[in-house]
Amino acid sequence: MVKLDAKIPEGPIAEKWNNHKFNSKLVNPANKRKYDIIVVGTGLAGAAAAATLGELGYNVKAFTYHDSARRAHSISAQGGINAAKNYQNDGDSVYRLFYDTVKGGDFRAREANVYRLAEVSNNIIDQCVAQGVPFAREYGGLLDNRSFGGALVSRTFYAKGQTGQQLLLGAVSSLNKEIGKGTVKLYNRKEMLDVVLVDGVARGIITRDLLTGEIEKYSAHAVILATGGYANVFFLSTSAMNCNATAIWRAHKKGALFANPCYTQIHPTCLPVHGENQSKLTLMSESLRNDGRIWVSKLVGDMRQPGDIPEEERDYYLERKYPSYGNLSPRDISSRSAKEAFDAGRGARGQEAVYLDFKDAIGRLGKNVIEERYGNLFQIYETITGENPYRVPMKIYPAPHYTMGGLWVDYNLMSTIPGLFVGGEANFSDHGANRLGASALMQGLADGYFILPYTISDYLASAKPKTMKAEGPEFDAAMKEVTEFTQKLISINGKMTVDDFHKQLGRIMWNKVGMGRNEKGLTEAIKEIAELRELFWKEVKVVGSADDFNQTLERAGRVADYLELGELMARDALSRNESCGGHFREEYQTPEGEAQRDDENYSFVSAWEFNKPGDWNLHKEDLAFENIKLAQRSYK
Ligand SMILES: Cc1cc2nc3c(=O)[nH]c(=O)nc-3n(C[C@H](O)[C@H](O)[C@H](O)COP(=O)(O)OP(=O)(O)OC[C@H]3O[C@@H](n4cnc5c(N)ncnc54)[C@H](O)[C@@H]3O)c2cc1C
Repeated sequence: MVKLDAKIPEGPIAEKWNNHKFNSKLVNPANKRKYDIIVVGTGLAGAAAAATLGELGYNVKAFTYHDSARRAHSISAQGGINAAKNYQNDGDSVYRLFYDTVKGGDFRAREANVYRLAEVSNNIIDQCVAQGVPFAREYGGLLDNRSFGGALVSRTFYAKGQTGQQLLLGAVSSLNKEIGKGTVKLYNRKEMLDVVLVDGVARGIITRDLLTGEIEKYSAHAVILATGGYANVFFLSTSAMNCNATAIWRAHKKGALFANPCYTQIHPTCLPVHGENQSKLTLMSESLRNDGRIWVSKLVGDMRQPGDIPEEERDYYLERKYPSYGNLSPRDISSRSAKEAFDAGRGARGQEAVYLDFKDAIGRLGKNVIEERYGNLFQIYETITGENPYRVPMKIYPAPHYTMGGLWVDYNLMSTIPGLFVGGEANFSDHGANRLGASALMQGLADGYFILPYTISDYLASAKPKTMKAEGPEFDAAMKEVTEFTQKLISINGKMTVDDFHKQLGRIMWNKVGMGRNEKGLTEAIKEIAELRELFWKEVKVVGSADDFNQTLERAGRVADYLELGELMARDALSRNESCGGHFREEYQTPEGEAQRDDENYSFVSAWEFNKPGDWNLHKEDLAFENIKLAQRSYK
């Protein structure tokens, strides 16, 4: 029987982390090299964790399915990273960042974790600057900031529209230093397909070499998963096409509880879908909302060109509905408002799109300033759409982008499997039901640089530094299971491609488990996904062999996992009879159409235990709000 214990330290919120660090056990420096730690993932969370643990002296094995560590999806992050430095002197503080994050997450996050995140945010900036990350600077030389949704202060540090890339280069250069020193060994082109438990404790992983197909085993005293999010369950999302849920899903099936799977973020400013054969969506960073104004025509079915629609016939709906936050309203609210405008027949020239317009900003600040701030984003837009956003408004629409759900972790970022830690987007952690912009990079780096190194040391200090070997019946059984799973996929030889299944699943997810959800749609989705899963195991065609480079096989395994995860997302959404953040149940809304929470009955984290596909047990972690008063979110 699983018992959820969040292990939140005693004491006032501002002292919890410091006290916890002080009370944590330390590993004798001479013993550190005797402990092996596996880190799966070399995105911001994984690279930061592996580099820091290597620098501390542990023996780290870092895994990525990419050819190089720096290809992790973190590299695509554009807009920026939050920190409570208050360089702008505009009223920011650790407490305010904590408050904004809890409120932004619609009061469904764990207070103690969020406070710690806000607290270490400032260390992240110092660390990255020391690494040479070229953050933008203002005229006096201090680091510059811009604003992101859900905040009235400017706390977002950025490097043009390539913040993720620059941060990852910093983290990977630290990682490379450790690889050079020999404290970290990098295993690239290896996909983790299972976690190995010995006596109920995580002791290793099973991987498939993506070039040779070889199934391999690795042991460690502790395993960290930093394998990113699962937005690709929707097929079309802003995530890199390779991003997938397999690592966390296989761990879930081995006993790690999955928390809040239905909390997904639909980002308001993406390029609209333009056809059936599209395989991915492109984000236009939220930072554009600092200067761009979002609008649609006031008239239903207006087919005029945007330039022909006079000012008085435009509806700047975010500014109208949320005068305080306007275009910087949080993502869930902005996305729903865009959908509302489209559903009412007021989409841009009848399309599933709204306008993001820089005319006023260019008039006020000049084209040069806009180019300096967002040049590369404007270029991306023009390359893809053929339209020049300096002249005509961008067309944007919401799209799946980020997943707040993930493996359940306690305050130490340990899952319900002892010795299995989870960092970055892969855990459910700090964002509640909606993540604020620029907070994912902050969380990934907080987990990797500043939290896991402490909590893992505390965990390892209690274990004897005896040599670990990837041997024994547990490793053999896991190898056999993975080999059989792979062979089974190849042997079906059906009539439908892996993408056929992924696209069908994506359609169900988008239509019934997307921006608006209701009991009928969710009930149908659960049934349809189960049927699709059954069909998959009869009709999928995976060409090629298991002993070779085979991307169809890779995708097939990932889609097989999505076909289970998608159902859990729908079940989670159905079980939560309230609306909160990105989870909008149409039955539960205020008269103004805002999310209607039910704090009395749903102020908990849903943590699901896997029995078999289609069968899960729900465990609840009650959320206590001792420092922030629960209130209806208002951005008016
Ligand atoms: C287009 C875009 C723009 C964004 N912009 C911002 C922004 O401006 N600010 C912000 O805060 N957030 C932003 N985000 C969100 C943010 O980028 C991500 O949440 C964050 O980078 C995730 O980092 P991560 O380290 O958790 O995972 P990732 O960067 O996704 O890394 C995952 C790693 O795990 C490895 N991996 C995964 N599965 C396996 C497996 N089975 N076996 C072996 N290796 C595996 C991969 O190879 C990779 O190395 C953006 C997201 C997108 C999609």
